[in-house]
Amino acid sequence: MTVRCYGIAATKCGEIATYDFALRLLIWIQEKPLITEQTVRVAASCQGVGLHSGAPVSLQILPAPAGTGIIFRRVDLDGFEIEAVGKNVARVSYATSLMKKGVLISTTEHLLSAFVGMGIDNAIVQLDNLELPILDGSAKPFIDLIKKAGIRKQRRPRTYIRILRPLEFREGNKFIGVYPARAYSVSYKINFPHPMIGRETFSVELTNGQYVSKIAPARTFGFLHEAEAMRQQGLIRGASSENALVLTRDGLVNPPLRFEDEFVRHKILDLIGDLALVGRRILGRVVADRAGHAMHTALVSRLLRDRTLWEETTLPEEPAEGYTHQEMRPALQGMN
Ligand SMILES: [Zn+2]
Repeated sequence: MTVRCYGIAATKCGEIATYDFALRLLIWIQEKPLITEQTVRVAASCQGVGLHSGAPVSLQILPAPAGTGIIFRRVDLDGFEIEAVGKNVARVSYATSLMKKGVLISTTEHLLSAFVGMGIDNAIVQLDNLELPILDGSAKPFIDLIKKAGIRKQRRPRTYIRILRPLEFREGNKFIGVYPARAYSVSYKINFPHPMIGRETFSVELTNGQYVSKIAPARTFGFLHEAEAMRQQGLIRGASSENALVLTRDGLVNPPLRFEDEFVRHKILDLIGDLALVGRRILGRVVADRAGHAMHTALVSRLLRDRTLWEETTLPEEPAEGYTHQEMRPALQGMN
């Protein structure tokens, strides 16, 4: 009796499986193609110093197979690898660092932000020291590096995390929240009691190349009167007026600004880089008010822990979505 039941179940199961396969095939044929993952076309490298460590570092971005995500590789430590995912987040005060088995990769947010802005899902990032180079303090040099390497579309559909219900954190007057939305957008508000900053608000949707033109060039910033105390804590040892906007009590050491609201735009740059540690692209509206790396990464941890907040989804391809290598070709033709 038991054996016969198994037999019936197996037959039905087989029929359902065949039907399901045929249906999926039909849907697949009729549907628009899905947005797929992307990697860099060839390797590209740059050199610089770490903002906090001041250590010289060489960085190389390499192509990676679909499904890899972003992996950092310490070539100075036998190629030890650390995945850019929430569970590896370590210290987050002035920068976001990743740590695995005691090995550190520091100040990851500007490069991760550039990857999101350029639609790079998979890459190996090799470096020969513990901190990424700060370069000019913005994500623009990383954008240029990715453009130089070119972008290659891969076959695997890109998985998005679609936010299903709001998630909010409040800490005194600091706030961060994420809400359901059809696209990934970020709004940020800051309020520094400084004549050059004050209240600044900026919003951006990560489509149509907006990231590249409006967010990527915004540089990191710091206050001269805090510099000595930070150096005492082992921070900003690589900082200079070449790689950060340096503010005095009432002015700016190294004008001009690239945007009149460059400060808040840089906060958005950092937030996008920190949220990249979710490991997949977000479909939702992020709102932040005077938040920082610690609150950004708290949001990441909570999202990863609570599966009821989101669902995985794929999206049909739209000509305006991000950058593809077809769009990159004219830029590449003009470069040597
Ligand atoms: Zn930053």
